Amino acid sequence: MFKALILNQEDKKTLASIGSIDESQLPEGEVLVDVDYSSLNYKDGLAVTGRGKIVREFPMVPGIDLVGKVAESSDDRYKPGDAVVLTGWGVGENRWGGMAQRARLKADHLVPLTEGLSGKQAMMIGTAGLTAMLCVQALEDAGVTPDKGTVLVTGASGGVGSVAVTLLAQLGYTVAAVTGRAAENGEMLKALGASEIVERSTLSEPGRPLDKQRWAGAVDTVGSTLLANVLAQVNYGGAVAACGLAGGFDLPTTVMPFILRNVALLGVDSVMCPFDKRQAAWKRLAKLLPESFYQQACEEITLEQVPEYADAITRGQVSGRVVIKL
Ligand code: NAP
Repeated sequence: MFKALILNQEDKKTLASIGSIDESQLPEGEVLVDVDYSSLNYKDGLAVTGRGKIVREFPMVPGIDLVGKVAESSDDRYKPGDAVVLTGWGVGENRWGGMAQRARLKADHLVPLTEGLSGKQAMMIGTAGLTAMLCVQALEDAGVTPDKGTVLVTGASGGVGSVAVTLLAQLGYTVAAVTGRAAENGEMLKALGASEIVERSTLSEPGRPLDKQRWAGAVDTVGSTLLANVLAQVNYGGAVAACGLAGGFDLPTTVMPFILRNVALLGVDSVMCPFDKRQAAWKRLAKLLPESFYQQACEEITLEQVPEYADAITRGQVSGRVVIKL
């Protein structure tokens, strides 16, 4: 028997509790993993609190990210003792996930832990960090280079945002960070590499279809009106990598930035990202993130603390990354 956070549903309400699971209850898969750490993402917050329709079947073990060591494997690619990472692929949504001491997983969903990273560091990166790396790569592919001007990051205090700020700064970009918590997190964001803090409220109200050009590009984790306002401020030929909906899933914009300023809106998904791209992104993350990132923007909690932190993350009250020790 081993410990897990288990989600059940009663009268359409999601209930989270710590319980014991027997190995025979785990889903099918080629690889059994002893989980060392999971992490808490916005999506986990929605799943654990039931505020978003993330979980498709109950009971469910949440946790869209995990790192651990292979205990048993019927797949040639993995053997007992190998350190592996999993992010996304619907794990913690439609398949039991990382908030348990053991998980049985599909070999296709795993990535070997990148050399140079500890398991805890890998979870400090997690889905959020992988997504941030993919957003930065999308901007690079669209021709947004450091010499083009400042790159804006929205939801900057959050998991994706804080890693995006760090990565861009490490790559030599000038970074502006949008936050609704400037007083609380402004110093942390500057320490991660932001040279300018933009108050979220200046971008929250509906604005003009085209505004003054200010940004070479942007990483957006917020969506809705804020993204519409960012699009209106991007320079001619710039690009915005959009990966999130922390402010809403709508996008009340016009075609003006696209047809008059050649602005590109780039969609980014990390959940179904194919293996080769995923592994390359992990290697780049391991190389680019400085030691200071792991000290400044991360917190470790226990499984018992997850419901409290899940509530906080869905209310936009968590800063940086939260890892869960199993
Ligand atoms: P997070 O840690 O909760 O960060 C979100 C940040 O957005 C908050 O820290 C806050 O930053 C800001 N924010 C919160 N509520 C807001 C509101 N109502 N209006 C404007 N800004 C608000 O979440 P995360 O894990 O980084 O994820 C960020 C988003 O990306 C989520 O929507 C998540 O679902 C999405 N995501 C997508 C993918 C993908 O594959 N596409 C992968 C991972 C995450 P400030 O306080 O600094 O303003």
